[in-house]
Amino acid sequence: MAIPGRLPFICECADRTCMEIVRLSLDEYEEVRTHPRRFVTAPGHQALSVEAGAGVVVGSHDGFVLVEKVDVAGEIAAERYDELRGRVDG
Ligand SMILES: [Zn+2]
Repeated sequence: MAIPGRLPFICECADRTCMEIVRLSLDEYEEVRTHPRRFVTAPGHQALSVEAGAGVVVGSHDGFVLVEKVDVAGEIAAERYDELRGRVDG
């Protein structure tokens, strides 16, 4: 059931193949984006990052979980960026 006023976004959990849809209001999404280290996952999907010590839960909402990356994960994110960019260039 779609919730009025909420937009679908792809889950941003540690599983790169994850295509789960999470729904946030535009306000919620903009709030997340004001924090570069924060990302949203589907409920339960935060476990991958949390158990790896790569992130901490900073908020649990109706339909999504807000996670903040810790330092090591920030480095991994940067590596992944390079990897993705290399793929585009190649
Ligand atoms: Zn996920």
